Formats: sequence, C-alpha cells, structure tokens
Amino acid sequence: MRQHIARAPAKVNLQLSVGPLQDDGYHDLVTVFHAVGLFDDVHATAAEPGAGISLSVTGVQRDLVPLDSTNLAWRAAQALANHAGVDPDVHLRITKGIPVAGGMAGGSADAAAALVACDSLWGLRTPRAELMEIAATLGSDVPFGLHGGTAIGTGRGEILTPVLTRSSFWWVFALAEGGLSTPAVYAECDRLRAGSAVAAPMLSGPLMSALRSGDASEVAKNLSNDLERAAVSLRPSLSRVLGLGEEYAALRAIVSGSGPTCAFLARDGEHALDLSVALSSAGLCRTVVRASAPVPGAALV
Ligand code: ATP
Repeated sequence: MRQHIARAPAKVNLQLSVGPLQDDGYHDLVTVFHAVGLFDDVHATAAEPGAGISLSVTGVQRDLVPLDSTNLAWRAAQALANHAGVDPDVHLRITKGIPVAGGMAGGSADAAAALVACDSLWGLRTPRAELMEIAATLGSDVPFGLHGGTAIGTGRGEILTPVLTRSSFWWVFALAEGGLSTPAVYAECDRLRAGSAVAAPMLSGPLMSALRSGDASEVAKNLSNDLERAAVSLRPSLSRVLGLGEEYAALRAIVSGSGPTCAFLARDGEHALDLSVALSSAGLCRTVVRASAPVPGAALV
C-alpha cells in the first residue's frame, strides 16, 4: 500500500516580542520564525471506509503525545476532510524528532505535515493558500510549519511575511528532560510584568539587517525572546544551561520560544560540532542535537 509521508521542521524564534495581555486573553506578537533542520514525519495510510482517524506515535518521547482527537495532527486531518467534504479515513503515524512541549512547535509541525500527507493521500491538490487558511484555524504556529524558511509572524504569529536570509546558520539545541506548558509560560510572563507598562511589540531592524547580511555574529547580537525570563523563572536550571553557551564560546544562547529547549548559535558547522560535544559532556540536558537553518516547510518526502 502506498504511503504518503510528509516531513515538517521545528522552529526557533529569532525574535519573540510579546505585547500586553489583551482582553481576549491573547497577546499581540511580533516574532521572527526560523525553521531548523530538526523534523517530525507524518505517514498517512488509507483506512477502511468509515474507520475514521487513528493515530500512533514513535520516538523517545512518544508517551508524552496524545493519541486522540486532541492531537494537532488528528485535528489537521479532520479539518482538511471537512474543508474538502471527504470522509476522514486515515491512519496517521507520527515519528517525533522534535522535542515535545519543548518550545519548538512540534505539535504545529505535525499538523502542517498531516495537512500535506492527507492532501496527498486523498488526492485533493488543495491550493497552498487554502492549506494556509486551514492551518491558521489549528494554531498560530501551524501556518509557519507549512511555510518554513525564515518569516516574520504578526497577529498571534499566524500572519506571515517571508524574510530573505543570505546564508545558512548552524544551531545546537539542548533538549531538556520534560517540557514546559506554553500557556503557563505566558502566564508567568504576565505575572513578572504585572504593574509595569508593556510597549506594543516592534520588529527589530538590526535583526533584519543581520539576516540580510548573513553575518551570524550580528544575528547573535540581535536575538531576543520576551518569554525567556518566564521560562527560566519556571525552570531555574535553564540559567545554568544558558551559561554553558558563554563558557563554550557559542555566539549566543537563548531559550527557544516558550522553552525549555535552549538554542545556541554557532559560527559554522565545525563550531556547532565542537559545541555539541562540549554541551553533551556537561550532562545538564537530556540530549544535544545540531541543525542548520533555515529549511523548507512541510513537504512530501
Ligand atoms: P509551541 O512552541 O508551539 O507552543 P511546544 O513546541 O512547546 O509548542 P508541542 O510539542 O507542540 O509544544 O506540544 C505541546 C502540547 O501539545 C503537548 O504537551 C501535547 O500535550 C500536545 N500535543 C498535541 N498534539 C501534539 C503533537 N502532535 N505532538 C506533540 N504534542 C502534541
């Protein structure tokens, strides 16, 4: 039986500026997404007519991933079937390479990959713009999972504008034992900022220039993450992991999104290898992985 396999990347936020808490409970964001070469695969296989959706997960953190309709890949398959007016008969098998609840948008990557895999399985040829619209209904990071590359995200992160970058960058990621809940990190951010005026978020001009020039040191200087303080507040051990960046001469160390994954920008591939060996030997994290970026969004394998 033919398998329809799609692969989608993780992301790191090069800028994550969080505006004040709105009345609807959300925050306006200005973010710069960067798709990194760390992937989940979603295999879609045909199921008997009327069988509906079923799902299985492989990978070291499979026990942390829901197997029911709360899984974002499941929701994506259902949303695409509704949109196209087809029966959602499919088995989805997710192979996780992206840390779960790690601040790298793994669930969103799975949703993006499930849209692409099911579109292929059901022979729909849904126009890209429609897939992007469905993606935005599933979560604010899902459109970027389809888009990939480097892109500015505004609104809740779902309104994307591509950014042209001159070169590839090398990253090392320290993956933590256990995750952090994104809503809990936002709540902690609000708690830490209570009583102080929070400005409307603005895109960083120096970061855009650095990306255009392709100079990793300039990019490093201009990385920012408004959620970092909150993530470290909830998981104080992260400050030691971030401190290793300076010790081992990373260009910069930051928390990825809502954490607890820590991202280290390296000068080049060789530096990334040295850095990953040093970080692994420090023994402060579950595992260390290297990845280059930017990479394309969800696509058939
Ligand atoms: P983000 O940075 O987008 O806020 P994250 O990378 O921190 O998210 P995810 O790995 O996307 O976190 O998972 C967050 C939670 O979503 C998990 O704890 C899990 O309960 C649930 N979840 C739903 N679908 C998935 C999926 N396909 N893979 C992983 N987690 C999923």
